[in-house]
Formats: sequence, structure tokens, C-alpha cells
Amino acid sequence: MTLPSPGTRVRIGPGEWQAWPGHDGHTPHTLDIVSAHQSHDPKYAWVYGHGIDCSWESSDCTQPWCFEILVRVDVLTAAAAQPAPDTPADAPAAQVPGAPLSTPGQMARGHDGHRPR
Ligand SMILES: [Zn+2]
Repeated sequence: MTLPSPGTRVRIGPGEWQAWPGHDGHTPHTLDIVSAHQSHDPKYAWVYGHGIDCSWESSDCTQPWCFEILVRVDVLTAAAAQPAPDTPADAPAAQVPGAPLSTPGQMARGHDGHRPR
């Protein structure tokens, strides 16, 4: 069994984790793992980590971790098998409707058409 190394980002959905043994979580979370350990249950492992909120600059989370939950091992091994987070962590998973479009071309045209004499 391969548990994710520290810093691995793992997404867990409802039913894929437990707040404590036998108590299913019903909310989705994205965690940055601080450490992961086998538990008494071979299907679940203890995960210590931070929510992605903690990586925000405004966050003042100074704790070693703020999540301590049991996560399904198959979810963790899938996360561990992913490539290292060289890919931009803030790449949008889906297009955001209404997001402003950047128009760098307009600026360049404006400069070209307005040369000082
Ligand atoms: Zn935190």
C-alpha cells in the first residue's frame, strides 16, 4: 500500500472519509496532506492535513494540521499515484462563467496605432 507523501493534494468526496471510525463524512473536501498513517481498519488510513483554505495568504492557520480524519485507502493510493504537483495548483477545473476575458491584443494594437510624431 502506498500512502501519499506530505504535500500531496487529495480530493475526497462524501462517503470516502470518516470523521472518526464508523462515522461517514458527507461533505467533499480538498486536503493538502501533512502525514498519513495506517489505521486499525485496512480500508481506511488516518490523514493529517490542511484544507486548501489554509494556503490562502489571508489564512492564519498556524497549526501543524487542522484535519484529522480517516480517508479510504483506495482514494489515497489514487492520489499518491498522481504526478507531483508541478502542475499549477490553481488551474481552474472548469471554466468560470462570467469571468473577465483578458484582452492583451487590444493593448498592443492601441500602442501601435498611437505613435508619437
Ligand atoms: Zn490548516
